[in-house]
Amino acid sequence: MNEQAQQYVEDFMARLIARNPGEPEFHQAVREVAESLAPHIVTSPILQKMKVLERIAEPERVIIFRVPWLNDKGEIEINRGYRIQMNSAIGPYKGGIRFHPSVNLSILKFLAFEQTFKNSLTTLPMGGGKGGSDFNPKGKSDNEVMKFCQSFMTELQRHIGQDTDVPAGDIGVGGREIGFMFGQYKRLRDEFTGTLTGKGRDWGGSPLRPEATGYGTCYFAQEMLATRNDSFKGKTVCISGSGNVAIYATEKAVQLGGRVVALSDSNGYIYDKDGVKLDVVKAIKLQRRARISEYVKEVPGAEYHEGCAGIWGIPCDIALPCATQNEIDGESAAKLAANGCRVVCEGANMPSTPEAIAVYEANGMLYGPAKAANAGGVATSGLEMSQNSLRLSWSFEEVDARLKDIMTNIFHNAYDASKACGAEGNLMVGANVAGFIKVAEAMLAQGVAY
Ligand code: NDP
Repeated sequence: MNEQAQQYVEDFMARLIARNPGEPEFHQAVREVAESLAPHIVTSPILQKMKVLERIAEPERVIIFRVPWLNDKGEIEINRGYRIQMNSAIGPYKGGIRFHPSVNLSILKFLAFEQTFKNSLTTLPMGGGKGGSDFNPKGKSDNEVMKFCQSFMTELQRHIGQDTDVPAGDIGVGGREIGFMFGQYKRLRDEFTGTLTGKGRDWGGSPLRPEATGYGTCYFAQEMLATRNDSFKGKTVCISGSGNVAIYATEKAVQLGGRVVALSDSNGYIYDKDGVKLDVVKAIKLQRRARISEYVKEVPGAEYHEGCAGIWGIPCDIALPCATQNEIDGESAAKLAANGCRVVCEGANMPSTPEAIAVYEANGMLYGPAKAANAGGVATSGLEMSQNSLRLSWSFEEVDARLKDIMTNIFHNAYDASKACGAEGNLMVGANVAGFIKVAEAMLAQGVAY
């Protein structure tokens, strides 16, 4: 980056930080994009005059609300709900809902910001949004989760709609939570529409939506590997997390010929040198909602270790971080590189710190950034919206073929954009630039309301 571009980034970030103090994850996500875009912005009077990046970094609307609910003891509990409606230039706001005690404005703003570019990359007409609550579903009964979801939706329903804002799942929000929220939305609004995605197959959901993010991440990694005439075949793979994204990334990595030897949760990780038994993992995580440590009780010879960062010390060829933001720091990335890992492809959102990304670059590793690599989930949500509007349901195979096509196109668009900006193969720069262009052009075309 030349001096003028560097100065642009520093001035831009200084203003952003002053306007959004105490939001480190948001600052991190915006800085990464600003650094990729700065060389173009400084040579474009129109982007500067129309303050396009400045506007993209300011949410169109932020909704914060009280979520009171009754626990099983009959006591009142109070959580905080959020919806960030970040950008609607190319379609209705679209993005998941996260239920996790760590949820705050900074995390949701970073996710909504990333989502805007990710949704643009899918080429489907979806704007960017994200929402959630500091509610912790862990250890709660189904009844408590239902009461919380109903209270959450009682407020949220007035802000969303199939043509306005279409939420989906994320950490802590799977099929059960989407069902409870959809039921409440339908009750209050008296309409059966595609306002939420990730619904059950028999009531408006798309085939492949549960699998889509994990499968899509592997399809993206496959394209990256192909640039080196390589594939998943015979590769050792480490995958963090053991939730929705991790489970289906494991399934697809194995189908493509890889051997997944490790999975984790927020307490620790399992190592199974023979390859993890996915049926055992699914029974533990999807049916019993138990901890990944249970795996070693059922699979002799497998190991469990406390502490989730240790997973990156396991020698592997391919690492797929599929748990949470900033889970790979510079130190963990250095361990991956030293152990011969050649590919990092992100199923989670922003799982690599800037220091980790610098290590990947310094070691010539292939790096698939989240906003491109994990876009398969929202892309399939987009396909669910289309099916809902058409009142049709496509087959599993049809949706899978579309998902593969979308992931291949995202890869090539990001690759071509990286080449066009003189950074061939840098998919982070390519994805940021390719995702930005469509949103920026739509914002320029739509003008500014004075
Ligand atoms: P799930 O809730 O299904 O699973 C999350 C997994 O990550 C769990 O194993 C969880 O462990 C672990 N985890 C969560 N928080 C932490 C933490 N602070 N430290 C360590 N481990 C943690 O969520 P998803 O699989 O849906 O989401 C995983 C990632 O993928 C997130 O970054 C999400 O934003 C991203 N993503 C998800 C999409 C989707 O379609 N679901 C789409 C695109 C991106 P534990 O059970 O102990 O909390």
